[in-house]
Amino acid sequence: MKKINLLIVEDEEAIRDMLRFSLTNANFNIIDSENTEQAVTILNHRIPDLIIIDWMLPGKSGIEFVKWIRNEKTLNHIPIIMLTAKAEENSKIKGLMSGADDYITKPFSIDELIARIKTVLRRGIIVSPSNRIEIGEMVLDIERHQVNIGNQRIKLLPLEYKLLYFFMTHQNKTYTRHQLIDHIYARNSYIDDRTIDVQIKRLREKLRPYGYDKIIKTIRGVGYCLMRDENEKGH
Ligand code: CA
Repeated sequence: MKKINLLIVEDEEAIRDMLRFSLTNANFNIIDSENTEQAVTILNHRIPDLIIIDWMLPGKSGIEFVKWIRNEKTLNHIPIIMLTAKAEENSKIKGLMSGADDYITKPFSIDELIARIKTVLRRGIIVSPSNRIEIGEMVLDIERHQVNIGNQRIKLLPLEYKLLYFFMTHQNKTYTRHQLIDHIYARNSYIDDRTIDVQIKRLREKLRPYGYDKIIKTIRGVGYCLMRDENEKGH
């Protein structure tokens, strides 16, 4: 199985070393940095699956960095866990408001951190503070249940919207037809694999005039995947 890439941003060497050591042992791939400047340089070359960032950093703070990421079109989908030494409820709210997906208060156990990482990755939600998910010019507005490409509204049926929403919140991961059926349809409804193929075909047809049909890839023998890196438009 593909290893999960974690980017760690932490200025305290002891904590950074501990994280690198324990998370590498737990089979994660670790890239670490001691400040946000280094992290930005890394992000120019690599897109991690998740970022763990300290709240208090020299230079740009963890919160400012999270805000910056959430405004970067190519990065705003990355889930973020914030490390904080402040236990106050206030910091938690600030952290989440700034766009972090979760936070963990120091000192923490590595098992707890791993559990949080897994939860955040499973949740897979990558929503910007404005409740919009963007891929190039394609914008999914969660509150309005609308999808626009440029200034063109895309008319999707409820299941097509659900499917696109699922893909946009779970980018670059391959899902089997079975998994997609589990996520998209109500429990206990009997849906066969072909139904999902037909659904994807219809969704692609609606995206095709704008060139966005190609972001949903068929992975032969496995299933489907929204691949973000290729064929991306708008920047
Ligand atoms: Ca610190």
